Amino acid sequence: MAAVERQQWDVVVVGAGGAGLRAAIEARERGARTAVICKSLFGKAHTVMAEGGIAAAMANANENDTWQVHFRDTMRGGKFLNQWRMAELHAREAPERVWELETWGALFDRTADGRISQRNFGGHEYPRLAHVGDRTGLELIRTLQQKVVALQQEDHRATGDHESRLKVFQECTVTRVLKDGGRVSGVFGYERETGRFLVLEAPAVILATGGIGKSFKVTSNSWEYTGDGHALALLAGAPLVNMEFVQFHPTGMVWPPSVKGILVTESVRGDGGVLRNSEGKRFMFDYVPDVFKDKYAESEEEADRWYEDPDHNRRPPELLPRDEVARAINAEVKAGRGSPHGGVFLDVSTRMPAEVVRRRLPSMYHQFKELADVDITAEPMEVGPTCHYVMGGVAVDSDTAAARGVPGLYAAGEVAGGMHGSNRLGGNSLSDLLVFGRRAGRYAAGYAHGLADRRPPVDEAQVDTAAEEALRPFTAGAGGEAGPPENPYTLHQELQQTMNDLVGIIRREGEMEQALRGLAELRVRARRAGVEGHRQFNPGWHLALDLRNMLLVSECVARAALERTESRGGHTREDHPAMDRAWRNVNLLCSLADPTGGLAAADPARAQIRLTRERTEPIRPDLLALFEKEELVKYLAEEELYE
Ligand code: FAD
Repeated sequence: MAAVERQQWDVVVVGAGGAGLRAAIEARERGARTAVICKSLFGKAHTVMAEGGIAAAMANANENDTWQVHFRDTMRGGKFLNQWRMAELHAREAPERVWELETWGALFDRTADGRISQRNFGGHEYPRLAHVGDRTGLELIRTLQQKVVALQQEDHRATGDHESRLKVFQECTVTRVLKDGGRVSGVFGYERETGRFLVLEAPAVILATGGIGKSFKVTSNSWEYTGDGHALALLAGAPLVNMEFVQFHPTGMVWPPSVKGILVTESVRGDGGVLRNSEGKRFMFDYVPDVFKDKYAESEEEADRWYEDPDHNRRPPELLPRDEVARAINAEVKAGRGSPHGGVFLDVSTRMPAEVVRRRLPSMYHQFKELADVDITAEPMEVGPTCHYVMGGVAVDSDTAAARGVPGLYAAGEVAGGMHGSNRLGGNSLSDLLVFGRRAGRYAAGYAHGLADRRPPVDEAQVDTAAEEALRPFTAGAGGEAGPPENPYTLHQELQQTMNDLVGIIRREGEMEQALRGLAELRVRARRAGVEGHRQFNPGWHLALDLRNMLLVSECVARAALERTESRGGHTREDHPAMDRAWRNVNLLCSLADPTGGLAAADPARAQIRLTRERTEPIRPDLLALFEKEELVKYLAEEELYE
């Protein structure tokens, strides 16, 4: 069998984005020897791309803001399907996490009196997003990296080795979580550059791998987002919750084709940008749903006054939650009122002076100038929906971030489900990463510590199987499977097109059934995904290995979306267009059809995913009391109201 490098750690964190780094810092500070392993270069995680800011009720820009208001907004945004305890912890702890970042060196934009500046975003009642221009994620990662280095310097002083207690393995991909019986015993992966295999033995593994956007053709997500952590959890025996909820951000670039999907930050609207159709109409006033009617302006005059006097006017409808805005844009384009390249117009040029646009939105200014030759200080942008974020994810315990059913496995950040319900509010991801990254690090370290010397051993047979699975693309097509070898790149493209066209922003029963049939065919062909050459510097091999994960998560999304016969948040059914209160307390869980976690032996044409329903935990009464009764009636299921 292929040579495998071995190391022992207390905690292994898979992913070095905001969630992974915050988890690693916490685990190391609590005394756990911690390894971080990431697919890309250290510092290049997806979090770097976050633009608008971190949501936290610090009340710097409006003194009425509190954690309770933030909690309410988050629950409303998620249409009450949020794991309410996560939403509570998140709203309560986010301010502390932002101040902590500042003490670690983060340089946020300031208010006139020197406090951290906070900006408006969709669905947030008050200006709440701490930001660094439109490059907030970059500052967040820079700060966390700086903290990692500071801890390593401390360790060097104590032990003579910078990496004795906290080590980063960059450009390494984890392909399997290893287990001993039911418990985690480590991870198996490969170095992308050399192709060498690696086993990190550890009793606690934190998944912090981000999202799944690369399964869709038009996406704001980077190449890393192939749903690896979601798939690793499934394969290890942990269920995923509510995978039907995928957020299509309303404003991605639509032109030129090479940049289609790249994000246009919500800060553009938060700072005063407006959406218009081809007739020049600010169409969002026509799309305010009943549940939000009393909170959004009815006229352009009122909406514009809100920017100056938010306490006496209602918010502009451009700042509705993302799902509402994305559907509205989709409807305008479908009705023939779209822009020349199939989007709508987003305009800041008539709303603020050019120098303000360049100062507040520097990345957007450069993005459009360089990629589309559009000067956003002088003309509108063309924008349309793009696959952006997955609300569904690993089912976790709210307090500890422990994955359900697999002792030693934890998940934090975008890979974890529950926090955002059916739709995430902008800015709530960066705060989620910090709050739950820290919690995952804390509880994983505690768990590893509690085991003392009773650590689960690594099962050698599992290591061999993982190595065989990883090497399979080099022999695919030669091993007796019917049909010629398949090009992994072509399979990626076909999968992305299938998900985009058939399980995208507006969903229909027949199309989702067609998607499931298409996925079954792709699974069969993916068994023959073959590559040439060897393990060094072989991107085709990496693509072939990503396919397993993309196919698994795509099947989860399609199956759950077919099952949920209502429209809620990031899940819109044309054949069931209304939100149905009877679905409010239903979670859909996806688990592996073959509970042994073996995919290789299973017939790939057969469904890999089993779907079950569970009832959500009733919302705690003191949290329910934060809402008006009339509002709850719009959301809660009949029996919940009765209770
Ligand atoms: P990531 O930052 O994506 O990190 C994932 C890590 O896992 C990476 O290091 C990756 O290499 C690693 N990884 C993945 N698979 C493997 C594997 N198999 N083996 C080893 N390592 C692996 N949210 C906000 O709150 N505010 C914003 O303003 C905002 N703006 C955004 C702008 C854009 C363009 C995008 C795309 C998203 C934005 N978001 C924003 C969302 C937010 O950035 C993400 O949800 C968040 O950064 C995810 O962080 P994470 O730590 O969960 O994962």
